[in-house]
Amino acid sequence: LTAPGQRLEMETIDIRGVPTRVWKNAPANLRQVAMAGRAHGDRLFAIYEDERITYDAWFRAVARLAAEFRARGIAKGDRVALAMRNLPEWPVAFFAATAIGAICVPLNAWWTGPELAFGLANSGSKLLVCDAERWERLAGHRAEFPGLETVFVARGGKPVEGGERLEDVIGTPGDYAALPPCELPPEEIAPDDEATIFYTSGTTGQPKGALGTHRNLCTNVLSSGFNTACAALRRGEVPPDPVKKVGLTVIPLFHVTACSAGLMGYIVAGHTMVFMHKWDPEKAFQLIEREKVNLTGGVPTIAWQLLEHPKRKNYDLSSLEAVAYGGAPAAPELVRKIHEEFGALPANGWGMTETMATVTGHSSEDYLNRPDSCGPPVAVADLKIMSEDGETELPTGEVGELWARGPMIVKGYWNRPEATAETFVDGWVRTGDLARLDEEGWCFIVDRAKDMVIRGGENIYSSEVENVLYDHPAVTDAALVGIPHPTLGEEPAAVVHLAPGTSASEEELREWVAARLAKFKVPVRIAFVEGTLPRNANGKILKKDLGAFFA
Ligand code: AMP
Repeated sequence: LTAPGQRLEMETIDIRGVPTRVWKNAPANLRQVAMAGRAHGDRLFAIYEDERITYDAWFRAVARLAAEFRARGIAKGDRVALAMRNLPEWPVAFFAATAIGAICVPLNAWWTGPELAFGLANSGSKLLVCDAERWERLAGHRAEFPGLETVFVARGGKPVEGGERLEDVIGTPGDYAALPPCELPPEEIAPDDEATIFYTSGTTGQPKGALGTHRNLCTNVLSSGFNTACAALRRGEVPPDPVKKVGLTVIPLFHVTACSAGLMGYIVAGHTMVFMHKWDPEKAFQLIEREKVNLTGGVPTIAWQLLEHPKRKNYDLSSLEAVAYGGAPAAPELVRKIHEEFGALPANGWGMTETMATVTGHSSEDYLNRPDSCGPPVAVADLKIMSEDGETELPTGEVGELWARGPMIVKGYWNRPEATAETFVDGWVRTGDLARLDEEGWCFIVDRAKDMVIRGGENIYSSEVENVLYDHPAVTDAALVGIPHPTLGEEPAAVVHLAPGTSASEEELREWVAARLAKFKVPVRIAFVEGTLPRNANGKILKKDLGAFFA
């Protein structure tokens, strides 16, 4: 995987006091991943609309931008934020930052101005690379992140108020091939040095930054071929050399899944990424046909939308080999349908921001027999099922909280020692998912202990939306729940109680949330209750009873 003809070997090393199996000769840091990418030369790195960027051109832009970051005073450990849609500039800026030891902070492009401002302030970012739309959203919030010194805006036209144009430094993607070849500025990077902060919410309301290391992301280098590679390893065989593929990258790179399972493995293997500005199933069909795409997927919602689209049969999709997904529960029926309708292999994987993506995955042939499972752990991960109080390990087959361990688990949360201590215990991460394992170690996610709605793969932590509702002067009680949706899986809906003598319409409350939180977090329905919300003896709202308001 690291060089043509080179085989992967495994070794056991000590990570946080835990003996852990890792890849011996895989890249150990993101600088080495970038160098592995450069070795693919004229092979196509990315396709975006009519832009076609080779690995060599991409690396020239990475090295040029890294030199500019250095010239602007970015040193090891400084935070460089990244806020844009899936544009070719994303992986340029990501590697320019991480290859010189800076910590890259990918921010969610769906976030509103206040959410983006929070991410910049909380991470203490010194430099931001963003697209024009994100920079416009941040107008009016500039005073909230005084530590930001430099802003490069991509695709902004002229002039960019308060920032500089990225293309004045590296040109547009069409210009990358003409940049002079240059080396990355020197830097020593150890595998356990910090590399990324990806935000996730959790139960506390405000987003927490999961602090990932170079090793965490590099572990996922294997993920591009984890189906075949892990199945081979479990059989005691050597994994086959990767074959070059074309993948349609439909999930946003600011999600750990796309950045690690997608980007990392793709670069090391020399695959080509086809980016989409915005998810659109018909555009996806056109791209699959035109670019002969082999791999796609992301979340179950995307797989369903591809399957059920009325125009699917108008396109030649015969190049598709695998449709992979994760991030949300998937119906077993999806497995059979992908296999039958596309002739492609379905693949499911489980992961979370705190695990830098893939922890379980499966070889597709086996999966057809266990379609309700998200697979066994990848070769370097361990799973166990614990009682909900975290005291006792439960026997095979029993349902409890899933705990995971391995070199992909992040160090903890950025500047949040208490939250870190609650979630990361003796090298294990408590996932907040309820699951069982079968005799062969295959994992079945049964439910969630954490209070969260997953809308088409986007997580919405109830407390974050509830806190915004509570801030409304008329609201005295609020609860967010998921209501079923045929393709998105779930959508957020809220039940609220208003203070006596006050009034607020459903529309007014929805607008209140929309002004503060990303659109996907806004409750699609809001029900009003006269009395207080149903609670158990400890005062915890009985959310399972609230679905009745939306039946
Ligand atoms: P995130 O931190 O946004 O990546 O979300 C992680 C959460 O998504 C997990 O804790 C699960 O609740 C859910 N999830 C991820 N992958 C799967 C899967 N394959 N099947 C079911 N739920 C999943």
